[in-house]
Amino acid sequence: MSNKISEAYKILSKELYAQNIRFRLVPIERIKDLKKTFSHTLEHEIDCPEFVEFIKYINWFGALNSFPEAKSILVASVYNPAGKVVFQKQDKDIEVVIPQGFIKFYPKQRVLQTIITDILHSLGYRNERILLHIKLLAVQSGLAEYGKNNITYVEGFGSSHFLGSFITDMPANDDFWREPKIMDACENCDLCRLNCPTGAISEDRFLIHGEKCITLYNENPGEFPEWIESKWHHAVVGCMKCQSVCPCNAADYVDVPILETFTVSETDILLNETEFEQLPQALKDKFAQFGFPEIHSLLLRNIKVICM
Ligand code: SF4
Ligand code: SF4
Repeated sequence: MSNKISEAYKILSKELYAQNIRFRLVPIERIKDLKKTFSHTLEHEIDCPEFVEFIKYINWFGALNSFPEAKSILVASVYNPAGKVVFQKQDKDIEVVIPQGFIKFYPKQRVLQTIITDILHSLGYRNERILLHIKLLAVQSGLAEYGKNNITYVEGFGSSHFLGSFITDMPANDDFWREPKIMDACENCDLCRLNCPTGAISEDRFLIHGEKCITLYNENPGEFPEWIESKWHHAVVGCMKCQSVCPCNAADYVDVPILETFTVSETDILLNETEFEQLPQALKDKFAQFGFPEIHSLLLRNIKVICM
């Protein structure tokens, strides 16, 4: 590695760490290894045909066409713990989780992109966001490890983080590529499996049964299947049951912050309206602050099943 690249890497590291961002730079050639691992998983391990079909239509790696000079992939992890919102009713307050992936996801992704772009530009490099199999990349790059619940964990953040990926013409300083790895902490632990209400985490294979995961249903439109018991719903969207009990996340779940409270009259409106667009503007704004517009059409259905 030349002195110039070594020096640039040190500056990049220092500046990202100062902003509580962890990262790895992976040589661009590793994309073929990433594709290989992902194809193997898709062909041999996923038994949900709808998911396989869905995955096939995504334009993975499209950014490579417009940036052929890219020399590496930068995969970054940003600390982003879960929060909760309170829906007040006449007789009780109901606390509902907002998983980390849904809290200001887009605004924070934009901030991450700005931070990385500014640092790389100052070093004489450019970058572009890229869509790829990011959890797998994070694990194979050495940035993260899998939990038994198939969630990625990053040292110091646990699973309270989100990932972002970019390609850049800055060369990688090293190559930590490895086979997908599960955390040592999972070896003598079964808490996530035991706390999963649907049995999606099984003992006989690593990959969870996606078709049994609540997230698949409450992140998508439609009726919930009858086999999902209403008492299992606990999150505005997604599900935190297998992360909230994980010892690697302990500190983040002692006192989950309340991000917003909906008054009795606001809760009433939410429970009686079927279309998000018909809500009063003030109520829409309360949800807009979370920065994840894709779930707006699902919110009322998901909130009703918890609060009714
Ligand atoms: S709960 Fe235990 S088994 Fe599950 S991911 Fe956490 S450490 Fe691993
Ligand atoms: S997200 Fe919920 S349903 Fe899915 S595996 Fe974890 S605990 Fe089970």
